Amino acid sequence: MKRRLFNLLALASLLLCVAAVVMWGRSYFYGDTIGGEDSPAVGWRRGGGLYSSIGGIEADWWLRRVTSSDPAGFSAFSHRVATNQRGLQDAYLNSLHGVRLLGFFYVHQVQTTTMGDDGKPIPHFQDTHVLLIPYWAVCAALIVAPVMYYRRSRAERRRKVQGVCAHCGYDLRATPDRCPECGTVPPVGNSKP
Ligand SMILES: [Zn+2]
Repeated sequence: MKRRLFNLLALASLLLCVAAVVMWGRSYFYGDTIGGEDSPAVGWRRGGGLYSSIGGIEADWWLRRVTSSDPAGFSAFSHRVATNQRGLQDAYLNSLHGVRLLGFFYVHQVQTTTMGDDGKPIPHFQDTHVLLIPYWAVCAALIVAPVMYYRRSRAERRRKVQGVCAHCGYDLRATPDRCPECGTVPPVGNSKP
């Protein structure tokens, strides 16, 4: 049962990994966004979003106070596909003084003013977290279970051919019905004389 669950997990992980590779390639041509805020009203709003762009997934989550003078944000969860604006995205991340390592990026910033339409700062509150995870890391994490599955099934196949216990590798030629070492009962048709 535990084994079947792992196999299912490995399969799901493999499918997600393939999807991540596709999104990785796509991220150099298109920016995909999904996200939104919990309320369209003036006042406090919590929001979050995912943005796939230029080799990574950016996760943003924030709390902000919206006054009538603020520009309107998206109020419901929305999906947006845009042509990638590589320069803009880089400039945006560079403008945030966060921690950057191997394509990862993280920053937590609190703004208390924002630029008004007339170019003058106006009071504003926004608490934002920005986390950028590179696609290589997403794919690496998702390929672990499929690789484990592949290695294990390959080892089991080899043991089956060699006439040894699939679980512990003990020689089963003398006792083909049950492994004397770990107690595993080989499947019918697996025993060799
Ligand atoms: Zn055994």
